[in-house]
Amino acid sequence: MVGPVSYSLVNAKRYDAIVVGSGACGGWAAMELAQAGLRVLMLEAGGNIVPAHDFHHTFLYEMPFRGEGRPGAMRRYTGTERNYRIMLDSEENPYTTSPETHYRWSRSRCLGGRTLHWARATDRMADYEFKAASRDGYGKDWAVTYADMAPYYDRVESFIGVSGERLGLPQFPDGPFLPPMPLNCAETIFTAAAKSLGYATTHRRLAQLTRMHHNRPPCHYCGNCVNGCDVGAMFSTVSTTLPPALKTGNLEVRTDCVVAHVRMDHENRAQGVTYVERYSKKSIEVDARYVILAASTLENTRLLLLSAKGGLANSSGLLGHYMMDQVGGGGVSGILPKLKGGPARLDDGKSAGITVPNFQNIDKATQRKDFIRGYVMNATGGQTEYPQYAASLPGYGSAWKKEVKSRYVAQARVWNAGAEMLARKENFVELDPEVKDHWGIPVLKIHFTHCDNDRKLIADFQHKAEELFRRAGGEVMPGMSRGGPAGFPGGPGSPDAKAGHGRSLSGAIHEVGTARMSEDPRDGVLNSYCRTHDVPNVYVFGGNAFCSTGDKHPTLTMMALTARGCAHLLKA
Ligand SMILES: Cc1cc2nc3c(=O)[nH]c(=O)nc-3n(C[C@H](O)[C@H](O)[C@H](O)COP(=O)(O)OP(=O)(O)OC[C@H]3O[C@@H](n4cnc5c(N)ncnc54)[C@H](O)[C@@H]3O)c2cc1C
Ligand code: SF4
Repeated sequence: MVGPVSYSLVNAKRYDAIVVGSGACGGWAAMELAQAGLRVLMLEAGGNIVPAHDFHHTFLYEMPFRGEGRPGAMRRYTGTERNYRIMLDSEENPYTTSPETHYRWSRSRCLGGRTLHWARATDRMADYEFKAASRDGYGKDWAVTYADMAPYYDRVESFIGVSGERLGLPQFPDGPFLPPMPLNCAETIFTAAAKSLGYATTHRRLAQLTRMHHNRPPCHYCGNCVNGCDVGAMFSTVSTTLPPALKTGNLEVRTDCVVAHVRMDHENRAQGVTYVERYSKKSIEVDARYVILAASTLENTRLLLLSAKGGLANSSGLLGHYMMDQVGGGGVSGILPKLKGGPARLDDGKSAGITVPNFQNIDKATQRKDFIRGYVMNATGGQTEYPQYAASLPGYGSAWKKEVKSRYVAQARVWNAGAEMLARKENFVELDPEVKDHWGIPVLKIHFTHCDNDRKLIADFQHKAEELFRRAGGEVMPGMSRGGPAGFPGGPGSPDAKAGHGRSLSGAIHEVGTARMSEDPRDGVLNSYCRTHDVPNVYVFGGNAFCSTGDKHPTLTMMALTARGCAHLLKA
């Protein structure tokens, strides 16, 4: 469907709130505010999404171009023939990096943003992360504590539905979980191995339903999540927050509307925003009492930088600085020989796994001398959609085919599910002075490198991951050793492997920071409610406020901060 689509035509001259972006945070903010009776306009830069048309339950071999698309057609998209509609047109939306930066900014421009294909891991951060600076002296504590966040974690989890198991560990706080998904054979073996090494383990916590929840059906384990879930069993804006928001009659959604900047009045308040229609390139102004930026972390900062000389709400001079993303890469893949030759199973349908919560630098007893902060390990195994290892397995003919088949259900891997990256001021984003996007809007330039602590942390993870893999009886397969199979970050042939690192030190698609929260306006851009210190009617929801990455997946914390910020706005 091409051209702006507008749902629920509130058609006001002036709205109570404009929400920019429809991802995890924009969807939540629109729902909360519309349900409270505010007239809300949601502006989404990407296209409309109709699950029946845009989500594909098709095997790659059934597609005319085996998922690669017509020759050349996929070059501009980050996805495949199956899911490019829910990804991003990178020719329309470029960004630049400094020469020393190895960072891939993974984005999605469509109604629902990245919630349409995210991996759904949903963990709470703990006080040892919010107060890490007080413990080890590095960086800055958050302006919120776990006690401040807990009611909002409860609220978000109860609504979106998170399957998991209560563990009772302070560093991995529990929520009101739906029943966990059962473990498969490989996960049962990894659980025993982890326990024998003295680690606590649990089911991966996922925003994926295991029973009927708020009128959404449980997952039927088809494994299609990265291409969009057409039954709504995984949390996404389209399945979960948008329907109740639209039901209020208070929300208008306009898609294909690229917000260009925030407009200010003469009293230091935001008056509204200016957006450009994606196809006609027409520039349009809309006004509101509140402007809510929820266009994803780095896009939010880009919009603030575009909205005033030197950046809107930048009296601290810190806007754009302290960009972080959990350290990506590392891991071991191979097979568990005792599972070889087993019957074919739908192992990747639930896309779950086990989690080993961080066990280091939590307190004095677990303190390491060589690095600060920690990481979370995940492990899983079993049959996947395709035996990607086949091309790297030596041999040929029927013996080779037999070997490929016998290993199919025995695949196994341990991966890095969140390794904390330290906040450093020299990692920052700015507007590129030369490059502009399809609509003539300056793009972001990213400056991003890692420090010694990041490298030591990932080296320790790699050591422990290999130990766990060996304890489970794992055998590393050719082409699937450190960092994963060929073609994956850190795998054979990747720039990191060629440089001898054997693993990627890029990001984990968990970009945060660049407008950190603080009690003192001189020390941050946002207050603890994610409202800018400088402009009282501009809120910024996403990962911008984070003072550290922590070792948890970030989206639940972004959404809980959004819920907390909305409660603050509604009280104002
Ligand atoms: C493959 C993948 C797996 C992931 N797995 C996990 C996971 O397991 N757990 C986890 O916690 N996180 C995960 N993440 C990260 C997670 O998706 C993000 O943290 C989350 O979606 C952020 O929500 P958001 O609302 O800030 O931004 P997004 O979901 O990115 O939504 C932003 C929206 O704003 C729109 N927008 C951008 N610019 C403009 C503009 N100028 N005008 C109007 N609209 C605009 C975009 O089109 C988009 O729809 C994953 C991400 C990816 C890509
Ligand atoms: S595996 Fe479950 S959550 Fe994923 S697409 Fe299928 S039904 Fe939806």
